[in-house]
Amino acid sequence: MALQVYNTLTRQKELFTPIEPGRVRMYVCGPTVYDHAHIGHAKLYVSMDIIVRYLRYTGLDVLYVQNITDVGHLLESGEDRILKGARREKTDPMQVVERYMRSYMDDMDGLRTIRPDIMPRATGHVPEQIAAVEQLIQSGHAYEVKGSVYFDVSSAPNYGKLSGRKVEELEEGARVDVRAEKRRPQDFALWKRAEPEHIMRWRSPWGEGFPGWHIECSAMAGKYLGANFDIHGGGLENIFPHNECEIAQSEALSGKPFANHWLHAGSLTVDGVKMSKSLGNSVTIQKALHQYPAEVLRFFMLSSHYRSPIDYSEDALAAAGRGWERLIAPALAAQRALRQPPAPDNAAVDFSHRLENARAEFSAAMNDDFNTPGALAALFDFAKQVNTLLAAHPRPHDETLNAIAAFYWELAGDVLGVLPVESADPGGSAAREETLIRLLAEIRAEARARKDFATSDRIREQLGQAGVALEDGKSGTIWKIDAPTASD
Ligand SMILES: [Zn+2]
Repeated sequence: MALQVYNTLTRQKELFTPIEPGRVRMYVCGPTVYDHAHIGHAKLYVSMDIIVRYLRYTGLDVLYVQNITDVGHLLESGEDRILKGARREKTDPMQVVERYMRSYMDDMDGLRTIRPDIMPRATGHVPEQIAAVEQLIQSGHAYEVKGSVYFDVSSAPNYGKLSGRKVEELEEGARVDVRAEKRRPQDFALWKRAEPEHIMRWRSPWGEGFPGWHIECSAMAGKYLGANFDIHGGGLENIFPHNECEIAQSEALSGKPFANHWLHAGSLTVDGVKMSKSLGNSVTIQKALHQYPAEVLRFFMLSSHYRSPIDYSEDALAAAGRGWERLIAPALAAQRALRQPPAPDNAAVDFSHRLENARAEFSAAMNDDFNTPGALAALFDFAKQVNTLLAAHPRPHDETLNAIAAFYWELAGDVLGVLPVESADPGGSAAREETLIRLLAEIRAEARARKDFATSDRIREQLGQAGVALEDGKSGTIWKIDAPTASD
């Protein structure tokens, strides 16, 4: 089955066909960096991360752009979020931006999301935004009033096509003075004049001012991905007005359809309640990562479809932790089995068809609009089969064990990012440790064979002090590492 994605624009699942064969151009609305990111952001960006990872797994070359909003995203009061952060911390707006952009990057690295290929900042693209606004005025889609420029919604016949709202129902939550100067209440700001006390300001053909939030995304998406590209992602709350306005502006600028597929991630509640500062139930990603391993947080989010809402609670995370341990236990068991003496020749087990079936089930689920609960079910099914195999044959051939390990590294590790990094990376420190212990065990066996007990005892003792216990059995030496296990 080929990949099907649900498109918010058409309200149906449709076949995903990249504009340029083999390449995907994707834009995701990034964070407004005025405070620490919370787990609602984690849900959105982990969802988008899985989409990018899976597209790459299928062999597509993905160009992933996610912006940083550092100006123009206003609160309902009309205050710029960045300026609010600067006021709160009694510091320069750009210092706030740097602080929380770094915090966001740390959070995203902590959650093991893959960094976007390009992370353009809105303040770094003001000339592009001014050029877009000028073009919209020239083509009759926008008008200037007292140093502010507004988009004329009546000039965009398709306005409302993404959100399904009718123009008559729409009204921007603007202050009365702003509302009064617009031709119609639905028109939205492309450029705003800066009042004398406003710090963040740029020169423009209409006087000093700053860009509107929507035009930032249109300008940056157009610059890096072209007028028409494959995927635009965001959170459900971005659909209106933000994404709707992006479409209106971009399509008025180019005359071409903007993004072909609109993918929106569902929201996150905490203990059944919408997260909000005033309720004091906001959980930062930092705090969540302090309480739970990144892999467990990811597993929790992937246990629901990305478009579904999820509820974050201690119980839900505890259940996710248990599920996650069950999922990865056979991967760790296969690695442990590899440490045992080699299998006798009669231990050949043909496991390849099971691997193929599991991979096919995994792909079938992911091809169905990135159905991660289905993909996890396929992995659980496979885990059961590995457990059965290891119960019957404690030491299958290296070939079988390596194939099982590689399967986990690729699907649970590379695609879903739920395998602990240490065990997921064959070139990582855990794998290196294994090689070194194996080498020392071999040297010790050689020393014993030539009755050099001083050397063999020294190796055993020193490894013991390092937490590695060597045990001599009938069929050779095995070792146990006193290392943190998956549940630690
Ligand atoms: Zn955006």
